[in-house]
Amino acid sequence: MEPRPLPPLTSATLYLVATPIGNLEDITLRAIRVLRECDVVAAEDTRRTGQLLQHLGLRTPLLSYFQFNEARRSGEILQRLARGEKIALVTDAGTPGISDPGERVVQAALAHGFRVESVPGACALVAALTASGLPTAEFHFAGFLPHKSGARRQRLEALAAVPGTLVLYESPYRIERLLGELREVFPGRRLVLARELTKKFEEFRRGTAEELLNSSSPRSWKGEFVVLIAPAGFDAPLSAQPDPTA
Ligand code: SAM
Repeated sequence: MEPRPLPPLTSATLYLVATPIGNLEDITLRAIRVLRECDVVAAEDTRRTGQLLQHLGLRTPLLSYFQFNEARRSGEILQRLARGEKIALVTDAGTPGISDPGERVVQAALAHGFRVESVPGACALVAALTASGLPTAEFHFAGFLPHKSGARRQRLEALAAVPGTLVLYESPYRIERLLGELREVFPGRRLVLARELTKKFEEFRRGTAEELLNSSSPRSWKGEFVVLIAPAGFDAPLSAQPDPTA
């Protein structure tokens, strides 16, 4: 059966396009088509997105759009939408707007009556949660914690009351510090550390904060992490992921 031709992109639309979080195969056919057929790709880092476009054999023009000029660039994106352009918004990795720029321009586009479409794909939070073995029916995504000690502690204490699995993002520079804080605020709670998802050294570590701190060497805190905290009372048996290279 011949595949039915897909309708062309809609003019005056902002497309939020998810890109890989490590494995370059994790990009959808629709994402590739939108990146090819849009008028411009608004990117968090044009150099990085340029590499992705090159890998995909695409030559669509790029526009820089990042956190510190989000306000100014939102204005430019609105002007382009008003001219009827189709704009793809991408970030460095994963889904735009999830601990990444995007929210502001989506709100601005909607406030001006433009169409916004999601082109779903990779997202570290979903990849980590679904393979963690922790409850998925109810979860709370809190993204990155504040950096300052007092504010971090306050935020964690407030999150301790939230039902369901708690999901955090953390930079490799602060992951050990975070585990130390979790040991105090969530003593005995089961954690899953999802490291380097979709990449060569993908790994799931499971245990309490105390166990994870005791069993990991300082070197092993390298890479990108999603931190998942089981709901209070969760005690299903979960073993660490077998190492495929062992
Ligand atoms: N927008 C992205 C998404 O959809 O997941 C998240 C961007 S946020 C700036 C980057 C954080 O996401 C990292 O510090 C880490 O917590 C998490 N992350 C991104 N890629 C990851 C990966 N491959 N493995 C584990 N965590 C990842």
